[in-house]
Amino acid sequence: MGKNKKYNRNTLKVNKGVEQPSAVNPKMNEHLGKFKKKKINVSDYFAGILSGDRSMLSRAITLIESTLPEDRESSKHLVRHCLPYSGKSVRIGITGVPGVGKSTFIEALGLDYIREGKKVAVLAIDPSSRRSKGSILGDKTRMEHLSTLTNAFIRPSANAGTLGGVARETHESIILCEAAGFDTIFVETVGVGQSETTVAHMVDFFLLLMLAGGGDELQGIKRGIMEMADLIVINKADGDNINKTQLAKREYENALHIFPSLKNGWHPKVLTASTVEHTGLDKIKKEIDSFLHLTKSNGYFEKTRQRQDILLFEENIRNALVDRFFQNNKMKQMFESYRKKIALKQVSSYEAANELLEFYFNKIT
Ligand code: GDP
Repeated sequence: MGKNKKYNRNTLKVNKGVEQPSAVNPKMNEHLGKFKKKKINVSDYFAGILSGDRSMLSRAITLIESTLPEDRESSKHLVRHCLPYSGKSVRIGITGVPGVGKSTFIEALGLDYIREGKKVAVLAIDPSSRRSKGSILGDKTRMEHLSTLTNAFIRPSANAGTLGGVARETHESIILCEAAGFDTIFVETVGVGQSETTVAHMVDFFLLLMLAGGGDELQGIKRGIMEMADLIVINKADGDNINKTQLAKREYENALHIFPSLKNGWHPKVLTASTVEHTGLDKIKKEIDSFLHLTKSNGYFEKTRQRQDILLFEENIRNALVDRFFQNNKMKQMFESYRKKIALKQVSSYEAANELLEFYFNKIT
């Protein structure tokens, strides 16, 4: 009994153990802090990108998206370094309303391309502002399968809020992806707002995804976007939707007839697809191939890229001029006082604009 008591006590007794060193190095946080703060310089970014390092590419795109003056300076140098290594890809723009199936479609097509040995990058542009970060693209897990593959790079980007910002960031991200060896670049944008026009002007092939609706086929999508499309795909051609899709196809084909023919000799088609059933995708890929074959052989592929570069050049000048004008304090004051004069009909808006510009160019610049 007495023995038992002792035994019990012994088993329950907690001996004071020897103080063990922490499993986590207490200095780790310090090290991590140092690591986080360690500035990556332009040549590190550049070497990482050229070696196809996806995490470095991702960080470089973050740099490009930064509005801090020192980051802008670094990103300018980085883009300049990468430029000679860029241009060797096919840039495919994809647009359509939310829910039309863009990410499912890009994933399916991307997986096919990767199976063929290609390297696929997806830049997804979110037209909502940085503040409501990723509301349309960011909050769902997208392209889960594709994103696990080493030959794929997926980057949703919140844009800088201005169209000029979207254009610069997207264009520079394309350059970086190309320098990193990605030969097929999808630029995805939601077909609301104006970002799709920006995207159409920086890709080789522009694809519009649509849904078969209940009769009113030209739903939601502005005719201008249809006019920019090299291919219209009616998606979700499966189940009960098949008949409706065929009907929609004919309506869109009729609508395309009224557009003037394209200078590059291409005739945009309407195709149908079901991404979930994997039907229609081969035809779409063939269509993209035919487009590339035609435009590369008649010179329009290069011509279009050069024209796009010049357009961006002009647009950048325009944006920078407007920004400088409106950021100038004196001009802000004068703008306010002219605004009142216009409201009181003391001056026409045309005259007011001219007077302000005269002042700006003669006295400020
Ligand atoms: P996004 O907003 O345009 O990127 O659209 P998602 O790719 O996220 O697709 C929206 C929904 O449509 C998802 O639930 C998909 O599973 C579904 N979906 C996508 N493609 C198809 C398709 O070809 N057929 C059917 N029936 N559903 C599809």
